[in-house]
Amino acid sequence: MSQESDDPSTPPDAEARALPSDSTRSATWHVSPDLMAVVALDGFFDELNPAWTATLGWSEAELKASPYSTFIHPDDQASSTTVFQEVRDGRTLIRFLNRIMCRDGSFRWISWVAVRDDGRIHCTGRDVTAERGAQEERDRLWALSEDMLARADYSGIMTAVNPAWTKVLGFTERELLTRPYAYFMHPEDAGKSVAALVEMGNTGLPTRFENRILTAEGGYKPIGWTVSPEPDGTQFIAVGRDLSDYKAREAELLQAQEALRQAHKMEAVGQLTGGIAHDFNNLLAAISLALEMVTQRLARGDVDALGKYVTMAQTSVRRGATLTQRLLAFSRRQTLDPLPTHPDRLVAGMEELVRRSVGPAVDVAVESSPGLWQVNVDVPQLENALLNLCINARDAMLPDGGRLTIETGNRTLTAADARELDLPAGDYVMLRVADTGAGMTPEVAARAFDPFFTTKPLGQGTGLGLSMVYGFVRQSGGQVFVRSQPGEGTAITMYFPRHLGDAAAAENAPPEDAASDGDGEVVLVVDDEQPIREVVAEVLELAGYRVLQAEDGPSGLKVLQSQRVDLLVTDVGLPGGMNGRQVADAARVARPDLRILFITGYAENAAVSGDALEPGMAVLTKPFDIAALGRKVEHLLGS
Ligand code: ADP
Ligand code: MG
Repeated sequence: MSQESDDPSTPPDAEARALPSDSTRSATWHVSPDLMAVVALDGFFDELNPAWTATLGWSEAELKASPYSTFIHPDDQASSTTVFQEVRDGRTLIRFLNRIMCRDGSFRWISWVAVRDDGRIHCTGRDVTAERGAQEERDRLWALSEDMLARADYSGIMTAVNPAWTKVLGFTERELLTRPYAYFMHPEDAGKSVAALVEMGNTGLPTRFENRILTAEGGYKPIGWTVSPEPDGTQFIAVGRDLSDYKAREAELLQAQEALRQAHKMEAVGQLTGGIAHDFNNLLAAISLALEMVTQRLARGDVDALGKYVTMAQTSVRRGATLTQRLLAFSRRQTLDPLPTHPDRLVAGMEELVRRSVGPAVDVAVESSPGLWQVNVDVPQLENALLNLCINARDAMLPDGGRLTIETGNRTLTAADARELDLPAGDYVMLRVADTGAGMTPEVAARAFDPFFTTKPLGQGTGLGLSMVYGFVRQSGGQVFVRSQPGEGTAITMYFPRHLGDAAAAENAPPEDAASDGDGEVVLVVDDEQPIREVVAEVLELAGYRVLQAEDGPSGLKVLQSQRVDLLVTDVGLPGGMNGRQVADAARVARPDLRILFITGYAENAAVSGDALEPGMAVLTKPFDIAALGRKVEHLLGS
């Protein structure tokens, strides 16, 4: 070519069609990497180019000494002979593949083009061994892959599937190639899968999805797909992996985790009931012994020493009340009386008490931040919680002491933080008690909030401190968590929701009225527990009130409708289909000024929680003492 293009008189397209000159042909013959030969009709080589020796290692003389068939792989002899005869008869041959032997005994794949001219056969052969290797590799992968491989088009039909399809699904290749692929998808998945394919067709980007594919037996197998479009724009390649085993393992794991959770739960419940039973048995034993002593002394007519035993019984009752209070706190059912509060003032007010409680070996530091937001909490309960945390900190720093830090701060939780803490996103006030004590192992930290879980020696730990803190914080709409490492100290952090609005001045709590006796006002006592109802009635009668009684909601309401009643004293949990709150609400429809005192074991359904109370209503938590009852009643009737 280059020689003709030197001639400026030759137009460019004539040049393209011009036959190469002899010298060009000769140069091509010598430099071509393709095998070129002229073969006589008897099968012997007449002429060979140097590529033969370069590719196969034979010398030109060795090649010319034998007919071409000597150099052909035994398996390719028959096909080679057939095409040789066809070319000899005048047919042009293109891209015929056979294997030619090298001098070192190996074979190379050659792709032939041949034509008969002038009574001889002219041929060129291209060494395609490398491409054949890659192709064979692909074929092997296709055949041996455990993944399902397919080529398909957007019209909905697969054009090729590998044997894994039959192994995984049981369908024959024919079934797979003649039915639309959507036929094999679970009806619930087909829409999404086809949409993913359409999307891939539009974007030209590979995609992944999972669906259930029909098996020949009629079941479905979960398959994870990776699908990529072919450059031609009409086909795509899909690789599908059977996820059945993976899913089964996943399910087993979930089941095992669930069983473990259940076991932990049962253990915690066992610990809880055991703890309650133990503590109450002790209290009951003390009360029972005290009452027995009272009985014995009474029988002997010896009333002088009775006071001692009565006090003993009362002490146990008070301890029992504290215990149930803590349990209710943990179960988030204590009667809370939240008030808008400045936490920094609360902490400052407690500092002295904390110092005295932890002793001189512990250095107490308060790190409060200016501009701290307010919270709406039950103040005595928050003080109780802080004190509990400080005492735990002191215990963890025994006997050498250390540093205790009470830290406060404002925190705004993003959606992600909030999710992690199981709280709504928003503003919170943080209160943290940190110590430099022994710290906790992960196992202890995981159980520290369980009721009755304690690592302290018998008689020293109740295991109710942190469980109470937990219940209180959660009931207040917050969260509490522990950060601790053995030897690195512990930090327990509480979050409370920010309260917007004014802190109630503690001063505006109404002053407790000086005790004054009732003057004939009418009180209705509704309680299904007969002893409680009768004692309450007796106490109020002694205080000068006129007292009526009812044992359930409907009969109480009947009394209210037929008589003058100034104060309703009612249990909250009542039989007869109406709870105390409902009785109160119904009664107030006709008498809006009716005063109401709820007495309750716990705040059922938050019906009588602090913020659900209206003016002229109050709550008294059982067990209570006579003086407390008297104060509440006077206060309600006096105001
Ligand atoms: P108690 O103090 O009666 O043991 P708590 O519920 O207050 O019960 O605490 C439970 C357990 O959590 C403790 O026994 C202790 O093992 C661990 N714990 C609590 N606070 C700390 C702390 N600050 N440092 C190390 N361990 C602690
Ligand atoms: Mg404790």
